[in-house]
Amino acid sequence: MIDPAALPALHASHGGIWIREGDRTAAVPKGTAIARTAETPTLLLNAPLTGQRLGYPDLNGLDLLELWAFIHPARFLVPTPKGLAEALNLPRPASESDIPALLQAATGALLAMLESPAWIEREGGWTAAQSLHRLRWPWAPLVAPRIARPKEAERWLFSKLPEWEESPPRPAPRTISLQSDAVVARLQQLTGTGAEARPGQQAYAAAAAEVFHPRAHRDQPNMLLAEAGTGIGKTLGYLAPASLWAGEAQGTVWISTYTKALQRQLDRESLRLFPDPAVAAKRVVVRKGRENYLCLLNLEDALQGGFAGRAAILAHLVARWAAFTKDGDMIGGDLPGWLPTLFRRNGSTALTDRRGECIYAGCPHYRKCFIERSARASADADIVIANHALVMINAARGRETGQAPQRIVFDEGHHLFDAADSTFSVALSGQEAIELRRWVMGPEGNSRGRRRGLAARLSDLASYDEQGGEAIRAAADAARALPADEWLKRVVAGEPFGPVEALLAAVRGTVYARAADGGEADAGYGLETELAEPDGTLVEGAQEAARALDSLLRPLTHLGKRMEAVIEEAPDWLDGAARARVEGAIASLGWRRDLVTAWLALLARIGGPADADYVDWLAVERIEGREYDIGIHRHWLDPTRPLAQTVLKPAQGVLITSATLKGGGDWDNAMSRSGANHLPRGAGRFEANSPFDYPGRSEVLIVTDIKRGDIAALSGAYARLIEAAGGGTLGLFTAIRRLRAVHARIADRLARAGLPLYAQHVDPMDTGTLIDIFRDDPRASLLGTDALRDGVDVPGHSLRLVVMEGVPWSKPTVLHAARKLAAGNQGGGGSAYDDRLIRARMAQAFGRLIRRAEDRGSFVILSAAMPSRLLSAFPPGTPIRRLTLDEAIISVSGQSRAGLDGNATLGLQGLDAGTHDLEQK
Ligand code: SF4
Repeated sequence: MIDPAALPALHASHGGIWIREGDRTAAVPKGTAIARTAETPTLLLNAPLTGQRLGYPDLNGLDLLELWAFIHPARFLVPTPKGLAEALNLPRPASESDIPALLQAATGALLAMLESPAWIEREGGWTAAQSLHRLRWPWAPLVAPRIARPKEAERWLFSKLPEWEESPPRPAPRTISLQSDAVVARLQQLTGTGAEARPGQQAYAAAAAEVFHPRAHRDQPNMLLAEAGTGIGKTLGYLAPASLWAGEAQGTVWISTYTKALQRQLDRESLRLFPDPAVAAKRVVVRKGRENYLCLLNLEDALQGGFAGRAAILAHLVARWAAFTKDGDMIGGDLPGWLPTLFRRNGSTALTDRRGECIYAGCPHYRKCFIERSARASADADIVIANHALVMINAARGRETGQAPQRIVFDEGHHLFDAADSTFSVALSGQEAIELRRWVMGPEGNSRGRRRGLAARLSDLASYDEQGGEAIRAAADAARALPADEWLKRVVAGEPFGPVEALLAAVRGTVYARAADGGEADAGYGLETELAEPDGTLVEGAQEAARALDSLLRPLTHLGKRMEAVIEEAPDWLDGAARARVEGAIASLGWRRDLVTAWLALLARIGGPADADYVDWLAVERIEGREYDIGIHRHWLDPTRPLAQTVLKPAQGVLITSATLKGGGDWDNAMSRSGANHLPRGAGRFEANSPFDYPGRSEVLIVTDIKRGDIAALSGAYARLIEAAGGGTLGLFTAIRRLRAVHARIADRLARAGLPLYAQHVDPMDTGTLIDIFRDDPRASLLGTDALRDGVDVPGHSLRLVVMEGVPWSKPTVLHAARKLAAGNQGGGGSAYDDRLIRARMAQAFGRLIRRAEDRGSFVILSAAMPSRLLSAFPPGTPIRRLTLDEAIISVSGQSRAGLDGNATLGLQGLDAGTHDLEQK
């Protein structure tokens, strides 16, 4: 057997490169490191990241993260040397040069686990190791000999997963009203008997309880808008009445979030509601879009030769995880977020059901399917934790099945407008159209995989019902008019094939003729232009494409009718499974029909009159100058109209809550962005201010001497501020280009000072993993864009400084211009509309800083152009100063020291495990 201590180990960071061979570690140049890893299998942690640090992205080696994923699938790991050391109870490396030795020790500890009776994830390990050996997984020669061959053959994953139970539909919930003393008692039970009474939280819970009263008027849910400042304890504040109602009325409350971070937090809180984990798993269910879950049929196909090379290795590691996962959620669940990125996303998306190809009861794994299990579990749960988009889709599609959410808590309610904006929008783009073609036609040419077209999915219907069979054939014929593989190449080369590709070529021509490139910061990214005054080519292209889409819509409509007729006729072959499959097909056919109908409406508008309810534009999507999609887009001018119609009016009770619901503005803002203005009786309001001492524990510093557009000065400012704070900095940018430029200039300098710097759009890791790393290391800093502005919940000392590169002005998009104009016409004033958006963004970004009473920190804006009228975004009394960078650095360093002293006095009480590391190197 190979001795792990005999393997060389490599660590590379912005601070240097070290290789350990035998018992000697040496700093080496890049070339030596690359040559050495090419010659000998070398231990490393996170190959894509190490490769990026070496400037050699194709680096291969013995990646300890892959070994971890094999040995401990579904177990959380912060993918850093510190995280690995803590997970394995090994001493943390004192310096970067000690990391290669840690990698050797960690390898020894992990491989020893394979031979230990304490290895709880043993089942299936031997078989997986044999398969991975055949696939030449670099770890296989070290792993396979250490796993004892089981006495009995291990069961195949697909036979050992549990089946879900079919249960009768839940009766309608009872009509009850909650008593206020019962709500208070439930709140006390959730917060713990020893917890001090928090009057703000009690008032909040009492107000939230009213949402659960019986509804008094048609089309008017009991609706409350509640702004509760950070620290009020709103999560338990609404969980108290929600869980009480769910238990007493025997109904389901949907709790909807915008970020995955809050979903995870709510899932953890479920143990307070139901301390027995087995009961909690039944009563509280996390529900996501189907594209998040592993599709077992896709996995089986991948394991049986559908995937090759590295993608096949990933499939086997995912199969290991599938045997131990809580719910099969591949994105934000218990599959490590870093695992797909180790394989450069090679294949991971093909393992989910992204294209709506599910064959429902026709699938051999239907009774074990994670997606079906989660859908069934939510029908019976007390609390369903979902996201805004899914709640809206379920409300729209669930009305026919009686499964539409009726009592909803929208947490992070300030995002409701944006979620509705994207949910109710339409895009006729190349990517969308090719997906439809694949859904209808199935595999074409050399494409592999189990993808099936309508004909294969509905073969029994076609052989039973002649007309149905004819409709399927006609749909497949008509779908040939949609874009096919390589469409983008043909469109760019000016050689489109078929009417829809020709339309996209005309769209592209118009965009390049009319759109302005987005200036220095956005050059190479999206290009767009208003859909107005279309030229003859575009109008003609739209008419041809509309004819083609109409030819597709007709057979799809006919097929839907035939399927409904078959359900009614109930022939012999239509057993329970076949019926479920046809019903599934009717639903997914319905969504496609709706999509094609919406496309036709959009095309009719080209050359015809504009519809004042919508904003339409043409766009070419690009990343760094590389085009990846072309299309026509339609958004509602006011997306809260369909929100009110589809989601709010049919609901019984709705609570919309957030720490920044008013967005640093007034209630008018919250009313207009929540849909309340479209309800006959509007909505109630509740407000509770944060109990935190913002004036004493935070400050806003507006730095006035950094010139706009001076990247060198901007980079220098970031570096000096991060040094002054000793790390723990969240840096926010509005343009990816500037983020990258600043990162490239300062990462090495900071690394040499022992201050690791991570960045979205730079480091090959998903955002969730970057946040985990940032949270885990108080010396680390993180740069990012929009998603980090309110997707980061890092209490404690790990986040003590937020730096914004400037005022987060809105991008001058067609959609933004139209809404601004509409706000101006309605008397609100266009610039007031802009100000509201910016204040909301500033309030959200500031909200990252103080997450608990003992937190402390500085909020820095590197822009002299910060208008005073926007400063009301910050909590009342927060000190705000305009000053030079030198002065800001003195202040930040003082604030950071005070934070350290404060935390040291507090000891570790109340600090998260993982955020209590106050050690300064
Ligand atoms: S039922 Fe559908 S989603 Fe589930 S495993 Fe089968 S094909 Fe995949």
